[in-house]
Amino acid sequence: MKLAKRVSTLTASTTLEITAKAKELKDAGHDVIGLGAGEPDFNTPAHILEAAKKAMDEGFTKYTPSGGLPALKKAIINKLETDQRLTYKPSEVIVCIGAKHALYTLFQVILDEGDEVIIPTPYWVSYPEQVKLAEGVPVYVEGKEENQFKITADQLKNVISSKTKALILNSPSNPTGMIYTKEELQELGKICLEHNIIIVSDEIYEKLLYDGNQHISIAQLSPELKAQTIIINGVSKSHSMTGWRIGYAVGNAEIISAMTNLASHSTSNPTSIAQYATIAAYQGSQGDVEVMRQAFEERLTIIFEKLNAIPGFHCIKPQGAFYLFPNASEAAKLAGYNDVDSLVKALLEEEKVALVPGSGFGADNYVRLSYATSLEQLEKAVERIARFMEKATAKL
Ligand code: PMP
Ligand code: GLU
Repeated sequence: MKLAKRVSTLTASTTLEITAKAKELKDAGHDVIGLGAGEPDFNTPAHILEAAKKAMDEGFTKYTPSGGLPALKKAIINKLETDQRLTYKPSEVIVCIGAKHALYTLFQVILDEGDEVIIPTPYWVSYPEQVKLAEGVPVYVEGKEENQFKITADQLKNVISSKTKALILNSPSNPTGMIYTKEELQELGKICLEHNIIIVSDEIYEKLLYDGNQHISIAQLSPELKAQTIIINGVSKSHSMTGWRIGYAVGNAEIISAMTNLASHSTSNPTSIAQYATIAAYQGSQGDVEVMRQAFEERLTIIFEKLNAIPGFHCIKPQGAFYLFPNASEAAKLAGYNDVDSLVKALLEEEKVALVPGSGFGADNYVRLSYATSLEQLEKAVERIARFMEKATAKL
């Protein structure tokens, strides 16, 4: 079958693929430990489930406005006001089918063929593919490990061209867990304003910060930056609601209106029941969000030390999200593999530990481990990785 050109180089999302593979092995009876999925392992909090059940019982099972229920937009606006002291109008908010779909729709409405989008590496797997699907061109800038995987203002300046349309910022970052400081955001923002570059600020890990770090959105830094920024967020990570598929974009009303028109022809609306559940997520107690954050921080503290103690794995301590992103190039060499991809493959085959190779994030020497799983499983996984390394090095 001859498929469209636009999908000719499109492959499945590495993160979802690894997750599916780990599940498949588990279903076939293998004792697999999946550290691939970027998905909280907690149940969606009970009061959110109750709100969904109530919505069903009350018959809220019909189409909603394409951009989302007015009450949900209001809840999102209140959240941004409370958390970020940012004020938006309903016309500046669209509710989408997860943050992923918010990003996809955004690129569809802001990019023309050949428009460039600056993507710092390591990046979340879907950014380049989504840009390409909108006929845009990803322009990569390397966030160096010695700068905590963050790009600098000078690096940004160097890649700007007359075609630059947008910059993607993801703080806290998937896969590195790093966060940009206020000063760094200010410097990057200044350049974006000078060159009229749209800032796509993916803040999906906003609630998962450790060591007392606080979230700062680049949109908070000045009214000009707020006008230049589209914030992307959602409840997948903060409220453990990955399967409900609710995310949103906020910012420039013209962009949001075009996104809403596109959604009206592509999806009609996000699931009505999930929207009611999200209203409850934002309006109810945020206690569960903090309980989950604390659990992630506890796991991070323990597992970070243990992983770094394995010969060949070098990891800098993440400040947010729920991933470790060690440099494993020395580990690959020590174990007799040419690259980290082969090491990851062997780890799954021999020790049944599923990790995501850094190549999926544009950083070949690294590997991503999600610690969104129980401490018991995490400790077992690290023991298996250590055993694998011992066996492999003994063989050489
Ligand atoms: N952005 C980042 C950085 C992510 O890791 C993810 C993965 N969940 C998303 C966006 C999309 O999240 P969702 O579609 O589940 O809201
Ligand atoms: N964002 C998560 C991850 O990076 C979920 C999978 C996906 O959406 O790609 O693992």
